[in-house]
Amino acid sequence: MIAVYFYGFDLSYFVFVLPAVVIALIAQIKVSSTFKKYSSVPSDGGMTGADAARLVLQRNGVDGVNIVPIKGNLTDNFDPRDNVIRLSETVYGAKTAAAVGVAAHEAGHAVQYARGYAPMRLRSAIIPATKVGSTLALPLILIGIIFSWRPLALAGVFLFGFSVLFQLVTLPVEFNASRRAVASLEESGKLSEGGIRASRQVLSAAAMTYVAALLVSLGNMLRLILIVSGRRK
Ligand SMILES: [Zn+2]
Repeated sequence: MIAVYFYGFDLSYFVFVLPAVVIALIAQIKVSSTFKKYSSVPSDGGMTGADAARLVLQRNGVDGVNIVPIKGNLTDNFDPRDNVIRLSETVYGAKTAAAVGVAAHEAGHAVQYARGYAPMRLRSAIIPATKVGSTLALPLILIGIIFSWRPLALAGVFLFGFSVLFQLVTLPVEFNASRRAVASLEESGKLSEGGIRASRQVLSAAAMTYVAALLVSLGNMLRLILIVSGRRK
């Protein structure tokens, strides 16, 4: 972040980054309020989050995935290393429409992993490059600019590109997990139309945060390109 602060709030920040940050904030507020809203709506037949995850796994013929509780709020995740679905306190044992949606989504990731879903594999494959990129990109750009060594600054911009690519590949992974989740819940016949609609709304609010994250990194990328190319003399 050094370079960003170093150059302060110039015009390119207002044009490329700020709008995306505002969209990301709105998306975050929307996901919290949607989750809160459907956390007060009882699930169909008293289904808990853990039940919903189990149902999605069963309907897709996926076994060997553990479903365990985890502390915190909206900390739900699927961890492919341990092949485990971790559900937060407001999801695991909660009999709410919100819990069903979130848990089914995480189970959707477990199904992707079991099936070797290509975008998920690509996403895991680029994680190391993304980590290196996000650590080195801004220092390289800053050093490149200070010493007027453009190839170094460009290498930094290139490395930053990996985090944009990561956010981009995240989109199909997230949308597909939700699609699998809602389809499995629907086909199970255990949810009412209202229950399905609630799950869909919780998950599309969550999906917006990933779109917003992509916009933020795209905005930063454009800004870095401008900063580097504007200093060629
Ligand atoms: Zn997800």
